[in-house]
Amino acid sequence: MDELSRFCCQNPQCADYGERGAGNLTACMRFGKEKRLRLLYCQTCHARFSERKGTPLFAARLPEATVHSVLEHLAEGCGIRKTSRLVGVSRGTVARYAGLAGQHAHRVHGEVVAFSPADARGAVRRAVGLGGQERKALRSR
Ligand SMILES: [Zn+2]
Repeated sequence: MDELSRFCCQNPQCADYGERGAGNLTACMRFGKEKRLRLLYCQTCHARFSERKGTPLFAARLPEATVHSVLEHLAEGCGIRKTSRLVGVSRGTVARYAGLAGQHAHRVHGEVVAFSPADARGAVRRAVGLGGQERKALRSR
């Protein structure tokens, strides 16, 4: 028996859209290399979709381990060019997966985090380095 409680219907018109563990999904077939991927079927709206739909791995041409390696390098702070050299894929490929992972993370954040407090320091600050006032304060020392 396949564990499907982490999945939800991907059809926005479905009554069970986004409902995890609603019991409406079944794995109706396997596909892809070595039949590793499941095609999920929603009993509510009769839609079929890949278990990877909505993730950076959806329609990926690279092997899954290579995609994970690209994303791990980016998560550790490697830039596009450095990740490209270390993993052995093109810069465009790294940039594309970075964008896909960012969109996925944004959607997950919207679903998981109930409330995001406003940051008094402004919108998005770079994770690496300091903000303008902190940089000025360090320079004046
Ligand atoms: Zn559905």
